[in-house]
Amino acid sequence: MSFKKCMVFLTAAALLLSALPGMAEENALYVRKVENLPEGFFLGMDVSSVLAEEASGVKYYDASGNERDLFAMLSENGVNLIRVRVWNDPFDSQGRGYGGGNCDINAAVEIGKRAAAAGLPLLVDFHYSDFWADPGKQMAPKAWKGMDIDEEKVPAVEEYTRDCLQKLKDAGVSVAMVQLGNETNGMLCGEKIWMNIYKIMNAGSKAVREIYPDALIAVHFANPENGDAYRSWASKLAYYHLDYDVFGTSYYPYWHGTLDNLKTVLSEIADTYGKKVMVMETSYAWTAADGDFSGNSIGEGGVYDKPYPFSVQGQVNEFTDVAQAMADIGGIGVCYWEGAWVPVGTASWEENAAKWEQYGSGWAASYAWEYDPNDAGKYYGGSACDNQTLFDFSGKALPSLAMFNLLKTGQDAPLRVEALEEVTLYCDINGEIVLPDTVPAVMNDNSRQDVAVTWDQIDEAALKAAGVASYAIHGTADGRDAVLNLHMVKYNFIANGSFEDGDRSMWKTTDHAGAD
Ligand code: CA
Repeated sequence: MSFKKCMVFLTAAALLLSALPGMAEENALYVRKVENLPEGFFLGMDVSSVLAEEASGVKYYDASGNERDLFAMLSENGVNLIRVRVWNDPFDSQGRGYGGGNCDINAAVEIGKRAAAAGLPLLVDFHYSDFWADPGKQMAPKAWKGMDIDEEKVPAVEEYTRDCLQKLKDAGVSVAMVQLGNETNGMLCGEKIWMNIYKIMNAGSKAVREIYPDALIAVHFANPENGDAYRSWASKLAYYHLDYDVFGTSYYPYWHGTLDNLKTVLSEIADTYGKKVMVMETSYAWTAADGDFSGNSIGEGGVYDKPYPFSVQGQVNEFTDVAQAMADIGGIGVCYWEGAWVPVGTASWEENAAKWEQYGSGWAASYAWEYDPNDAGKYYGGSACDNQTLFDFSGKALPSLAMFNLLKTGQDAPLRVEALEEVTLYCDINGEIVLPDTVPAVMNDNSRQDVAVTWDQIDEAALKAAGVASYAIHGTADGRDAVLNLHMVKYNFIANGSFEDGDRSMWKTTDHAGAD
């Protein structure tokens, strides 16, 4: 083996460079047609924050810049279901809102009426908590804290669910589906054993059947990448004979595994238990930038999967792929999460923070401290997803808003580069630095192609003289900035030095058992 030549390992980094802004003109948007889309397939959007947003002065505009009613715009663009979360009592002892839209049942009624005016039914997402419920926390509402499960809490859940749904019904709201809890991964309403979780769900289920007998009843979990957990939860619900129709999941491709895995897990549950399946939440970033001075859950530099570029085209490809995955396994729908939670202002943090506190338009207000001192009470702030919306930072519809309609027919566009992938190169400081002629590109249909690249001039002698170090080398490919992460290393001459490769033939092994 000659070490004159530099040992080169070229890998496409998981991290993709963001697409250039302004590249995805509406007429250039590529939309893959979703095949075998079932009749009545739900193309939903969660807009739970909308009332707090509007109270904060947010306005929504169509792609031409005309101010419009959000619900009318969603309906025109093919959304056929509006999801809204419901918290029991998201207010502190002085009546100040916890934030996140201050979504109690009164807000849900208001949103339901607005949706109904646009001809849209609701998916009601009961958290059975006073604030955010997710795999990390499922706190019981203040009023139900410490209640005896059978004597007090179960009747309280049933009565509360019945009262809420009756309010919606009295307001003329159409309810297509009701969720018994939100991302209830082994916890719900302060309960942590499945017998009690079932009792809470069963109480809700009975109320739904009574008030909205035609509505579908859904359960909702997160982390489908853990298929065994999903199988276990589905079997527990079957063991207790919970009366429900839809096994729902969140699916965020950053954290939740592949679509193939999602299809495998959900279709197995659908077949085994005779349930419908649906993606209750998904979303994707159109930019890595933050629009409201309050950090986002997804941006540059985090550790997560990025199977699509952060661009409007990336959003469309993500959503159509999820819809296709559901259509492939006979799923009943996909719901986009909080696609209208745009910045309440773009001038300053101070200006925005005042609105988040007053109107509850941030993910949490400081007033959540009483209820959730360890999370919301510490890290309260604005929208953590203003880069995953279907509207830009000023509230104007992005071209991706049209995807709900366009995925039914498809829309062709010339094949073009959407983004470049970063590449990584390891070079021996004693070898030769050979930069690659091409870099991998992500095309607008999310296929991959290698494109020619011209790198900026490098001083090879200086790089080698500087010893072990890392550099970002820039270049140009398809008119875009290409980046190569160059690591100057001292090559390790020991083959399989960590014994992690199964082939250990390069090592001579002797057995010292019994020796001192
Ligand atoms: Ca933000």
